[in-house]
Amino acid sequence: MAAIEMRNIVKEYGDGFKAVNDVSLDIADGEFMILVGPSGCGKSTLLRMIVGLEDITSGDMVIGGDRVNDKAPRDRNLSMVFQNYALYPHLTVFENIAFPLRLQKGIAEDEIRRRVREAAEMLELNEHLDRKPANLSGGQRQRVAMGRAIVRSVNAFLFDEPLSNLDAKLRGQMRTEISRMQRRLGTTTVYVTHDQTEAMTLGDRVAVLRRGFLQQVASPRELYEQPVNMFVAGFIGSPPMNFLPAVVDGDRLKLPLFSVGLPAAARGRVADGQLLIAGLRPDHFEDARLLDSAKRERGAVFRARVDVTEWLGDSQYAYIPFEAGEVTKQLAELAAELDSEALRTQLVVSIDAMSRLRENHEGE
Ligand code: ATP
Repeated sequence: MAAIEMRNIVKEYGDGFKAVNDVSLDIADGEFMILVGPSGCGKSTLLRMIVGLEDITSGDMVIGGDRVNDKAPRDRNLSMVFQNYALYPHLTVFENIAFPLRLQKGIAEDEIRRRVREAAEMLELNEHLDRKPANLSGGQRQRVAMGRAIVRSVNAFLFDEPLSNLDAKLRGQMRTEISRMQRRLGTTTVYVTHDQTEAMTLGDRVAVLRRGFLQQVASPRELYEQPVNMFVAGFIGSPPMNFLPAVVDGDRLKLPLFSVGLPAAARGRVADGQLLIAGLRPDHFEDARLLDSAKRERGAVFRARVDVTEWLGDSQYAYIPFEAGEVTKQLAELAAELDSEALRTQLVVSIDAMSRLRENHEGE
């Protein structure tokens, strides 16, 4: 096991395009780190630079205290699990899992058998050891790929969207298994996904990337409650956060349909009359008619026309159109309450800060 340290990592392709731009990230020994972001943000490129499948244009990649920039993949002692599993079709499950041990040379047959059986047991593959990959389900193939990764002791496991070929139910199951396995083995793990449910449920910490730039590295809870910018705020959470224009009016914040007390976190940091973007999670809206009067008075009550509703069984979303945009809220009712306490941590970024952010992102 080992810590992974990335210092100012850049990946520039031939045409001068930077797929990864000045990323510095420390992954602790034994930590489960998620790399997440929309398609093309550079997360796979970063993972491939850790494992050595992609050259690093500049910066330092340090694994277990060793700078590995110029080391071949086989000398980095890492295990990678790919999206397409990359199993050998002509080999049995047993031989697929045993493969990395056979490559190491000099490991006794008894020891190989013991380790393969141990890995297969952890992944409930014991009954399938004699089968070929073609005769396995997608979930079983995925387990074989994981078996091959965990069969030897390595510095870290690297996963590149390992669940994206599975159906939703199996994905949920495998998520739990990966999480359990990682905790049991305690091996440093870097896991790439564009699925925010995986990002929020699997990792100790999540690194959010956008267009090659690292946006925020934090625990899932911190990302949700204290996003550093509008991109992270809008990317994490489903349905996404609502962004509404707001203006500071003394100790209050005026939004298009209602006003609330200025959130504590913003006091002293904003000027009277300043324009802001307020971020509100859909679950911060409630049906005012269902609340007791004390709670009702704490929030801002406004009337709204519900445009479209979506029923999901355990929850329901309503879309409320109005001049300045659209609000998504849970529960389809005509009156809604906004709890100003709930708004406190959700004030995202001022327009000034946004323009600075834009400069950092090359005029985007
Ligand atoms: P996805 O989720 O779609 O796999 P990603 O976040 O993993 O996306 P990468 O595969 O790391 O993204 O790609 C990052 C950017 O680098 C993309 O814009 C991609 O088009 C570009 N890119 C990747 N490989 C090359 C290459 N060999 N030459 C030029 N550009 C490349």
